[in-house]
Amino acid sequence: MTAKFRGDCKVCGSDWKVGDQIYYQKEPKVICTDESCYTEQGGSITKSFQSSFTKPTQSYQRPKVKFIIPDIEIPDGVKFCAEQVQQVIVVAHHLAISMYPELDTEDQTFGQIRSKLADQILSVCHMHEPKG
Ligand SMILES: [Zn+2]
Repeated sequence: MTAKFRGDCKVCGSDWKVGDQIYYQKEPKVICTDESCYTEQGGSITKSFQSSFTKPTQSYQRPKVKFIIPDIEIPDGVKFCAEQVQQVIVVAHHLAISMYPELDTEDQTFGQIRSKLADQILSVCHMHEPKG
């Protein structure tokens, strides 16, 4: 804080005048310009108190992004593929439940397993797809 009166430290002898930055604690009274002397006398640093006090108000917000949807006609082939993905997700969902019956279906890990299984089902399907 800023010193409102001039004074000096009874321990290390450093002195200060009005307007100088000093360490000050009301109860028990500790006052000095030197941080290490101040803490040795039992003073607590207000910096840590302030940072823990101000932290919750500084909630970090991710910058918003505008995702543009192209204005284009969707052929049935693409819609069919999207439907296939949905079908695979349904299969992967039930597969994940049967493989991990202990896991909560609202758990993040369940979602990761389900997504991985869907990928694997899709890749296996593609391997067996008739090429031509
Ligand atoms: Zn001192």
